[in-house]
Amino acid sequence: MRYHNSFIKTNKQAKQYDSVNATLLSKGGFIHQTMAGVYTFLPLGWRVLNKIEDIIRQEMDTVGAEMLMPSIVPTALWEKTDRFKSVDILFQASAANDLSRKKNDARYVLSPTHEEVITPIAQTVKPSYKDLPFAVYQIQTKFRNEERPKSGLLRGREFRMKDLYSFHATADDLSEYYDHLKDVYRTIFNRLGLGDDTVLTLASGGDFTDDYSHEFNARCETGEDLVYYDTKQAVYYNKEVASAELMANSEPFAASEVGNIFPLGTKFSKAFSYTYTDKAGRAQPVHMASYGIGTSRVMGVLVERGHDDQGIIWPEAVAPYQVQLVALSSGDTGVAQRADDFYEALTSAGVEVLYDDRPEVAAGEKLKDADLIGLPWRAVISAKTGERLELKRRAKEEVKLVNVTDALKVVQSADAY
Ligand code: ATP
Ligand code: MG
Repeated sequence: MRYHNSFIKTNKQAKQYDSVNATLLSKGGFIHQTMAGVYTFLPLGWRVLNKIEDIIRQEMDTVGAEMLMPSIVPTALWEKTDRFKSVDILFQASAANDLSRKKNDARYVLSPTHEEVITPIAQTVKPSYKDLPFAVYQIQTKFRNEERPKSGLLRGREFRMKDLYSFHATADDLSEYYDHLKDVYRTIFNRLGLGDDTVLTLASGGDFTDDYSHEFNARCETGEDLVYYDTKQAVYYNKEVASAELMANSEPFAASEVGNIFPLGTKFSKAFSYTYTDKAGRAQPVHMASYGIGTSRVMGVLVERGHDDQGIIWPEAVAPYQVQLVALSSGDTGVAQRADDFYEALTSAGVEVLYDDRPEVAAGEKLKDADLIGLPWRAVISAKTGERLELKRRAKEEVKLVNVTDALKVVQSADAY
């Protein structure tokens, strides 16, 4: 992608927000705050979010089928489960204020999660024991009227989530699948560059189940969760469930909940009378579980954990492009031509390049922009570099002068210097 005349623009004038991710993502031109807790994903940010969601999609495709449910749903669905009254972050919408169409005075819920939608859909199949288990998932925008949206992408009122729902004949079958999903989540967080420091935590069931749930907590100073480690049982607990004794005897660490999985049991199937026919021909309640990952929150956490004074440091797997190619031509057509040629060579080799070809922008400004945006590699071509170019890893100081062929090899091999 050529920088010149694209809508990719850093915005170094953007204000200092309450968190590193909001500040750097705004200054870097990844997101734009449309209102408190609600963000536009600009072209660079949308590429990052898509990369995160694609990794999750690849792993989810091994355990379920993707689909898409609506965001606005009738309140009646939420009344069925009694969560219309009990869930305090529900956004509601009404058509009644549309004076030109008085006929439609329906009320809606802007979905914060989709158990109320998927359960009646799953029910239409009227499964027998042979049809179970199955699982479906979606990656979608969610709405929650959070009392205090904060920390940029970590707590929004409109945000992105992957949610998977699984359906089982027995509690044992649910439990087996649920444990497998813990491994799948581990793979996902490893691939997203959060593996080393994301722990599985025992937590309460929240609005979903009276029982327990499991959270995946990424260590993060700005995260809102406090996690305690019980050395005797080798189990991590969220502050809400940790015993008074554990809290008195151990130091918690700050974390952000990037995923949460819930064994729902028969709570939702009972509310919707969702049953399957067992071997003896009797109707039995279906056992359910749900599994979330906050994809936009993951993006925020990656920035909280990967940055320095100059800007963002993206993990390769989710960086919007792999190489920032900076042409410092100052009117030198030879330099501009060499940069163009290198851009062609990289892109035709399948490397994703953001090419800063802006003719009128000063060298210092371009280099600052490259650090702020934080792609894994920076390649500089100038009058000084002759036939070669300067290659630098975003997270390292070392600069290497290499020829084009070697540069191509280096950026294509994952573990190069
Ligand atoms: P929290 O405890 O942080 O409020 P939650 O337990 O209510 O989250 P879930 O219902 O488990 O959230 O949602 C699944 C995932 O969606 C969470 O693990 C989190 O990563 C993400 N998420 C939840 N609320 C928000 C939000 N307001 N902004 C961004 N991501 C969110
Ligand atoms: Mg949760």
